[in-house]
Amino acid sequence: MLTIQNLSAGYGKVQVLHGISIEVPKGKVVTLIGSNGAGKTTTMRAVSGMIAPTAGQITLNGKRIDGQEAYTIAKLGLAHSPEGRRVFATMTVTDNLTLGAFPRLTGSRPRGDVAGDLERALELFPRLKERRTQLAGTLSGGEQQMLAMARAIMLNPEVVLLDEPSMGLAPILVAEVFRIIERLKGQGVTMLLVEQFAAAALAVADYGYVLENGRISVQGPAERLRDDPAVKAAYLGGG
Ligand code: ATP
Repeated sequence: MLTIQNLSAGYGKVQVLHGISIEVPKGKVVTLIGSNGAGKTTTMRAVSGMIAPTAGQITLNGKRIDGQEAYTIAKLGLAHSPEGRRVFATMTVTDNLTLGAFPRLTGSRPRGDVAGDLERALELFPRLKERRTQLAGTLSGGEQQMLAMARAIMLNPEVVLLDEPSMGLAPILVAEVFRIIERLKGQGVTMLLVEQFAAAALAVADYGYVLENGRISVQGPAERLRDDPAVKAAYLGGG
């Protein structure tokens, strides 16, 4: 389980997050909703060690991870599927996925069955399976997005951070991404999900937080947020 307490972070002198607290219990899907610039991506980056928090505590299964190097955090089992198609363009799909498992080989967690997990990841993402020998840079944008997500899953993570997995995808692929998130949830994968499609995110999530200007303004069980008039008006397209 992932616990974020009073987290503050930013870029240089610009403070983006002002003491936010979020809990992601084991086996649950938690979603973080907010307008553009609210600080959702910054939260993900601070948790995975891409930027250093300026205050607060983050623990993964009871171990402090704030201020640790990103690779150290990955070895402890935290996977980050970043916003915006960050794949290794000159490597094949299979090699990108295998690389996702690399921190398992050097950390203290059990390595597990990397070859079996690769096959399972390809089953979960049939589009990637068809293109397993293709260079990642030649995939469509949507396929690259899926590859980033599949690569994160290859860590066999304790918790996975999914930052806008549906960004820029055609509607049919958005639906596919949400089906995959449902399946991962069914397998017991613990997730922190940031999504522009707040209604779809709240439909799959157990619990949600609303981030406004770097502060949590509302939180609660996902079904309650779906019915909250203020949340509806601001994030769910009114009504
Ligand atoms: P979006 O939904 O648009 O992706 P977000 O909630 O994920 O928004 P962040 O990406 O966390 O928002 O950005 C929060 C604030 O931090 C914004 O004002 C943004 O301009 C600023 N910011 C983000 N990255 C940097 C950076 N590398 N350097 C300086 N400021 C940054």
